[in-house]
Amino acid sequence: MNIHEYQAKELLAKFGVSIPKGIAAMTVAEAVEAAKQLPGPLYVVKSQIHAGGRGKGKFKELGPDAKGGVRLAKSLEEVESHAKEMLGNTLVTIQTGEAGKQVNRLYVTDGVDIGSEYYLSMVVDRATGRIALIVSTEGGMDIEEVAHSTPEKITTIVIDPAQGFMPHHGRAVAFALKLKGDLNKQAQVMAKQLYDAFVALDCAMLEINPLAETGDGQLQVLDTKMSFDSNALYRHPEVMALRDETEEDPAEIEASKYDLAYIKLDGNIGCMVNGAGLAMATMDIIKLNGEFPANFLDVGGGATKEKVTAAFKIILKDPAVKGILVNIFGGIMKCDIIADGIVAAAKEVNLSVPLVVRLEGTNVEKGKEILEGSGLPIVSAADLGDAAQKIVAEVRKIA
Ligand code: GDP
Ligand code: MG
Repeated sequence: MNIHEYQAKELLAKFGVSIPKGIAAMTVAEAVEAAKQLPGPLYVVKSQIHAGGRGKGKFKELGPDAKGGVRLAKSLEEVESHAKEMLGNTLVTIQTGEAGKQVNRLYVTDGVDIGSEYYLSMVVDRATGRIALIVSTEGGMDIEEVAHSTPEKITTIVIDPAQGFMPHHGRAVAFALKLKGDLNKQAQVMAKQLYDAFVALDCAMLEINPLAETGDGQLQVLDTKMSFDSNALYRHPEVMALRDETEEDPAEIEASKYDLAYIKLDGNIGCMVNGAGLAMATMDIIKLNGEFPANFLDVGGGATKEKVTAAFKIILKDPAVKGILVNIFGGIMKCDIIADGIVAAAKEVNLSVPLVVRLEGTNVEKGKEILEGSGLPIVSAADLGDAAQKIVAEVRKIA
């Protein structure tokens, strides 16, 4: 789960992290009111969307010459005019895709005088299974470009979870950022605070870009992105409360209501599978046969009629879907019960695209009999390879 910049900054402030003063605003009037609470005379008006690259982004409605999604303002009047231009309009950045994202919230912050911009992030590194701290002197807006053309300017520091964050990790961060004197000490302290926040909040990713050295020699977090491990959210109701559903894919929200793990993809074959591993294998074998999956969908262990119906509905909402492949292993659930669920669900949603079903496991013969006797045009498959070939042939018949 992702949250907005202002929410992430409020969480980090609780761990002592140094952050410029700022106030969130949902309307133009609130933005001006927020600026009045700040010392001024320089303010920053920041679009709040779940995507980076806002500074260099463009508003669809304003044309290519208008300013981006993060703007400096030198007066309350300027705060007001920026807020008017941003709220309700669609910001397109390198991370939003062409559709862009509508700006519904702003963050008005104290305008900081920036000396240097650094980069610091933390992720759970899958290769080592540990938290990795990634730092670079080349902070600002183009870290992807730095990683691509000058990877030697990026330092990775891996932390052993049994040992935790040690003073030498802090020194390594400050050294990599080439900081001296008091700034060096500030970096060590901040790295520890950020690590503590990362662990305590079960983050999946925390990115500070830029981490700025201000004109008066302070190290401050000017921008941050934070995402959380969904499996740990039950431990953090305060984080769960920050969820902004308007930023999420409506189909994925609907799926989460039924405890279905659904991720929309770009292909034309809808997949309904039980078990994440089997779902991955199903997507692979569709690709191997020359077509692309329209989604990842794991219905979980207990594929009840209600769940299967909800899953069909979610898959069919995607207009790109030209056929559905159901691949279910009846282990805990018996195949005949699953077949009943598929037939009932297919009837209820008035299934309009070809459906290939591969069942395996307990009572598989009974299950196949139910599918065949249903009167529905369900194509039964013998195994995974057969299923993929059949659904690919079906969607190509239509194309
Ligand atoms: P992003 O483009 O989505 O990463 O948004 P950022 O919050 O990082 O803002 C983009 C850029 O705006 C930063 O890299 C800074 O250079 C600049 N910026 C952000 N906040 C301030 C500020 O308080 N003062 C000044 N002078 N520049 C800022
Ligand atoms: Mg940034």
